[in-house]
Amino acid sequence: MAAINRKYARDHIREMYELIKEQSPPHHFEFSDPFWVLITTVLSHRTKDPVTDAASRGLYEKYHDSYGLASAEYDDVKEIIAKVGFSNVKAQRVIDISRILNEEYDGKVPSSIEELTKLPGIGRKTANVVLADSFGIPALAVDTHVHRISNRIGLSKTRNPGDTEIELKKIVPVEMWLGFNPTLVEFGKTICKPIGPRCDICKINSFCDYYKKIYIKKSTGNKK
Ligand code: SF4
Repeated sequence: MAAINRKYARDHIREMYELIKEQSPPHHFEFSDPFWVLITTVLSHRTKDPVTDAASRGLYEKYHDSYGLASAEYDDVKEIIAKVGFSNVKAQRVIDISRILNEEYDGKVPSSIEELTKLPGIGRKTANVVLADSFGIPALAVDTHVHRISNRIGLSKTRNPGDTEIELKKIVPVEMWLGFNPTLVEFGKTICKPIGPRCDICKINSFCDYYKKIYIKKSTGNKK
């Protein structure tokens, strides 16, 4: 992996981010209500967006809120979300989360990372998505796309999303946090793909460690 020049990254982060936004399609938000953002994010793990959105919409139409979902039958929930990954586990999880919200938070989603991460199966990524996408609280959610892209560019040199969040917070200005995750998710699905990134057309390739140190050598056959 190339050496990271964090000062370089910090100096150019705004310019890079604007160029990333330019070449990324707008992100589709299925819900803005905190409860349904939370449930949708729980369902989204290892699941494609259209499948997640359809499952979440199905739950919303049948149960409406945390009180409805808390009293749902496990088999009914499992059937509605059958196409999402790990539907067995997630069916019980969304029921449990709903029950806890009703019992401990008066049916409302808490708006702090500390309280959110006490809920079953809720990690920092999901909590940060809920804070940013439903409460509008600056939070930097790092999923697999953000983790991969940040390490390719050289914004971080980390092994897991938790460490990437720590590193990014040192160099990404707070006013960029809200849109950072959805923008990089779309960039990761269309340009900086997990396999076969489109470095040839990427507008930030002149900033990118992966492009300079790996892509060019691969494409010219120069193995050093
Ligand atoms: S140049 Fe390639 S690796 Fe770097 S950000 Fe663009 S697509 Fe990703």
